[in-house]
Amino acid sequence: MARIVLKFGGTSVGDVDRIKGVADRIERLVNEGNQVGVVVSAMAGVTNDLVKKTEAVAPLQDAAEYDTVVASGEQVTVGLLAMALEDRGIPARSWLGWQIPIHTDDAHGKARIQDVATENLEAALDRGEVLVVAGFQGMGPDGRITTLGRGGSDTSAVALAAAVQADRCDIYTDVDGVYTTDPRIVSGARKLERVTYEEMLEMASLGAKVLQTRSVGLAMNEGVRLQVLSSFEDVPGTLVCGEDEIVEQQQVSGVTYSRDEAKITLQKVADRPGVAASVFGPLADHHINVDMIVQNISEDGQSTDLTFTVGDADLDRAVQILQDQKNALGYAEIVPDRNVVKVSVLGVGMRSHAGIAQTMFRTLAEKGINVQVISTSEIAVSVLVGEDYTELALRALHHAYGLDSA
Ligand code: ASP
Ligand code: MG
Repeated sequence: MARIVLKFGGTSVGDVDRIKGVADRIERLVNEGNQVGVVVSAMAGVTNDLVKKTEAVAPLQDAAEYDTVVASGEQVTVGLLAMALEDRGIPARSWLGWQIPIHTDDAHGKARIQDVATENLEAALDRGEVLVVAGFQGMGPDGRITTLGRGGSDTSAVALAAAVQADRCDIYTDVDGVYTTDPRIVSGARKLERVTYEEMLEMASLGAKVLQTRSVGLAMNEGVRLQVLSSFEDVPGTLVCGEDEIVEQQQVSGVTYSRDEAKITLQKVADRPGVAASVFGPLADHHINVDMIVQNISEDGQSTDLTFTVGDADLDRAVQILQDQKNALGYAEIVPDRNVVKVSVLGVGMRSHAGIAQTMFRTLAEKGINVQVISTSEIAVSVLVGEDYTELALRALHHAYGLDSA
């Protein structure tokens, strides 16, 4: 007997038949003698619709009321799934965040889970019930409903698995695992059997949207073994686990990309101490994240170009803020560019292998792709290139690191 937490995303509970299919899957696990907790998202598209409604009513929404509205999608799916299970003779009940309760902080719209109370859950498991838990939601310090940020049901599932000390946490979704790169672009992309928490974290933050980033960090901290699986096909998925569980470590595990990048160049900025602080300070004050940065060597010792990237959505605001400060900053020209993509190679094997970055630069050079900005972390090297080169760069790098399927 094992204790298993399952999570089903929006497409996996997208209509009534799919909800019944989920119930069938749970029935099999229960009949095998397992204790089961299941976390579900809202039906596909529902949360988006709810968000639109809040925007239509009030552009400057009250964040707590926003949560009251957008958390409602999950209430429907837990109820329907619990009914489907009962209909199969399987004891089950639905649990909303406040009923457990799942305690969060008060950051409505992006709340963090602080604690999952286990008393109710353990009692229900002891009674032989399947726990059907609403994803994405919790309860703030003042008793109001909170939500965990888009895609937050993944985090709910990991938190539940950690709280009830589940043997594993299976995340059922519309892709069948984690790939070496985007299979829609590179036909030779391979499914990874295993990937480390750190690689998965890096992939998520670099733009691969399989799991909510926060859920991976939580799984790593709590030691929850996560499996990403397709709810539509019965094929093995990808296990997200600790480095010690991976026998043969590749140097590079994957090539990712993010189009959600924009570049800003400030031309002829004074080359003196404090300039970087005065450029990035105001952006930070406005909660604009700066990702990659390069500062060119000044030719005359007086001025230099400063290039950096921000998220696409922040570009206009960032330009506005810097224009407002033009006199104080004393640059000549501000040049924004949206047509860029960040391409990254990553792998924990990078820590012990030299020459990974060199292979990347050589490969891109051979294809005539100009590298505009570079950044590195312990387990990734990222470059900014023109957006038109996305496909070419991904294919060439995937091949260069020997990741193509045979
Ligand atoms: N329903 C929420 C969303 O669409 C949470 C989730 O699906 O993970 O973001
Ligand atoms: Mg999701």
